[in-house]
Order: sequence, then structure tokens, then C-alpha cells
Amino acid sequence: MPVPATPQVEASLIEAFSSVQGEGTLVGCRQIFLRLPGCNLDCRYCDTPFAATSSCLLEDPPGSNEMLRLENPVKLEVLTTIFRRWYLEAPGAHHSFSITGGEPLLHVDLLCDWLPELRQMLPIYLETNGTLPDPLERLLPDLDWVAMDIKLESQTGLLTDWELHRRFLQLANRTDCFVKMVVGEETPALELQLAAELVTSVSATIPLILQPVTVDGRVGVSTSRLLEMQRLISGTHSNVRIIPQTHIFLGVL
Ligand code: SF4
Repeated sequence: MPVPATPQVEASLIEAFSSVQGEGTLVGCRQIFLRLPGCNLDCRYCDTPFAATSSCLLEDPPGSNEMLRLENPVKLEVLTTIFRRWYLEAPGAHHSFSITGGEPLLHVDLLCDWLPELRQMLPIYLETNGTLPDPLERLLPDLDWVAMDIKLESQTGLLTDWELHRRFLQLANRTDCFVKMVVGEETPALELQLAAELVTSVSATIPLILQPVTVDGRVGVSTSRLLEMQRLISGTHSNVRIIPQTHIFLGVL
């Protein structure tokens, strides 16, 4: 008989803070962000600090930019109590928890144990690179939104695994999901077309978001090029939107 897994009681985080979602279909919604360490990819443009650290930063009060430093790992009970206080002190202020990284699905055991408790306060939004379908399948019952990337080789410098992304999206589509692609001025038409075909093969209604790469705090792709990309693939997938990283303009975390 298999031995039952020991429930997770603590977590190593990079940071936890309250801010405004700057990407994708929930842009503008205030969320409690939990950033978990580690990633299974190594994208060329990555500017996210995801290396595991001996301590983590916790913004308290929420939205203040005042950071407390806590030793990792932190007891889940401690973190949940803090988030419950945030929730009770400002009812309705937060839309959801945003679980982000790095790649949060690397922590599926932790999330399977912790998310049901967090979800009693707020719904759960998962930000993921869309390459780990098996952990996603385990976590689906605890998720409300999945924000999934399709990683284009021309941007990441890594081969795009189209079939892995398709398997992932088929699972993510059991939630309220969307697909985001970081694009640059030179993103080839073939990549855009393959991505549009992939998304529409799963569902014609899933939003596909072209997110122009950010360069030195500015949108790094011309408007005319973005409109050209949207036109190019809109015959294949009609729900294509153009949304830059808006939190950078707001100057928030
Ligand atoms: S998947 Fe995201 S966190 Fe991981 S290397 Fe790529 S950009 Fe960075």
C-alpha cells in the first residue's frame, strides 16, 4: 500500500506583495502575488529574479512598498494568517491570488496542499510558462485562471515545444485561461501562425495575447508591426489582443 505523502507545512518564497496585474486579460485587477523560486527554462530575455534565496521579502502593510525579510522556509500558517489579515482589513480590495515565479508548477506538492486554504479567501490565478502539463493536471481542481505562455524560439533562444504547449493548453482550457506570447519586432510570421493554429485547435475563443517585449522600460515593438502581426493571424484565430506590460508604466512591482 502506498505511503500517504506528508502534507507540506512550510514554503520557500522569493517574495509576496500586493499589486496590480499588469499583463493579460486580468490587467488592472489588484492581486496578492506569491513568487516561488526556480524555473525549468532559461529564456534569453528573462529579467525575473527566481533563484532560490535563504530569505524572502514580504510587503506589509500591503501596497506600502515596505518589505519585511523572513527566513526561508516560512511556515504556511504564518503566511496564511498574514494574508487573512490583509483580506479582512480591506474586504474586496484584492481580486485574487497570483501564483507566479519562476515556474510555480515546480512546486506542485506545496500548491496542492496550500491553495485550497488560500482559495477560501480569494480565487487563484496561475502564471506559468506552459511547459509542465502533468503538474498542471494535478493542480486543476484548485485553479480559477491559468495565464499560459507560448515561448517563441525567436525570443527565448530555446526550441519551442509545440506539442507540449498544446497538451498544456488542452488542460488549462478547463479553467478560465488565456495564452500570452512575448513578441519582438523581428518575430517571424511562421511562429505567429503556428501559435495561432495551436490555440484555435484547442478552442476558437481562448484569448491570444501579443505582448510586445519591454526594452529599457518601454514597449520594444512599433505599433505598426504589432498591428501587422495581429492582422496576419486574425484569420486563423480571431481573438487576438495586443497588451503590453502595463505595470511598468504604473511603476508598481
Ligand atoms: S519561463 Fe519565465 S521565469 Fe523562466 S526563464 Fe523564461 S521568462 Fe524567466
